[in-house]
Amino acid sequence: MIDKEYFTLQTEHFTIEGRSRAGHETWFRIRELGVALDIGRGPDPVISMPHVFVTHAHLDHAAGIPFYAGQRKLQRLAGGSVYIPAEAADDYRALMKLHEKLEGTPYDIEIVGVGEGDVLRLDRTHRVRAHRATHRVAARAYEFLETRHHLKPELAGREGAEIAALRQRGVEVTVDTEHPILFYTGDTDRGILEQNEAIYKAEVLMIECSFLADGHQERAARYRHIHFDDIAEFADRFENQLILLTHFSRRYSHEEIRAEVRRRCPSVLRGRIEVALPV
Ligand SMILES: [Zn+2]
Ligand SMILES: [Zn+2]
Repeated sequence: MIDKEYFTLQTEHFTIEGRSRAGHETWFRIRELGVALDIGRGPDPVISMPHVFVTHAHLDHAAGIPFYAGQRKLQRLAGGSVYIPAEAADDYRALMKLHEKLEGTPYDIEIVGVGEGDVLRLDRTHRVRAHRATHRVAARAYEFLETRHHLKPELAGREGAEIAALRQRGVEVTVDTEHPILFYTGDTDRGILEQNEAIYKAEVLMIECSFLADGHQERAARYRHIHFDDIAEFADRFENQLILLTHFSRRYSHEEIRAEVRRRCPSVLRGRIEVALPV
């Protein structure tokens, strides 16, 4: 089953658009952050995004990198950063060199190798922390952090004029706190549920759920993917406002996916789970 339409989901702070089916194509775009999450086969909506976070080198997630470079060149869009697991970065740089040679033109994108635990600055208020994802090849999950300014607690209730006066005198009136607004797993198996704490804390969690049906648990483990039973097993730990399931196997129809999620969903997760399928 191949989805023809894109998927769109409005969350509290941003809109997620994309398309995601296992072995076919996975990409998402969040315009408010200027990011693509994986790049699939290089669809038009991701070309204008200045930051592309690729989780791993499987073609359904990463084949679009050269096309992204070429399209940005054609559209005269400068730069473009493609983040990729550090283990694969040199090979991608060599691949891009080959494409430059084949096309007889240089590209402007930058391939950035990302290690586990690396923290990257996205813009003035957003940073991205890379995590280990457990998959068949080197893989990163990405956690997006937003800095928010709050009035210092001891100044709560004071008049605006008084606070302005303090600020004018050079007194620090705010404190910064960092909020995990999004965690994107990419492809992974249940290892990430066992080993990672941050996955449970982000406001929005985008987690792969390739398999759902009975009898497919063993297949999920063998190919290093998640089965819905894995998520259900850890149900009590999810503090996320929203959990978006992605990367369903193409063996399931939309109806089967929705029915299995409904049937298997533990009560503690009810109302917080969405599926990345076009309506
Ligand atoms: Zn995949
Ligand atoms: Zn994969």
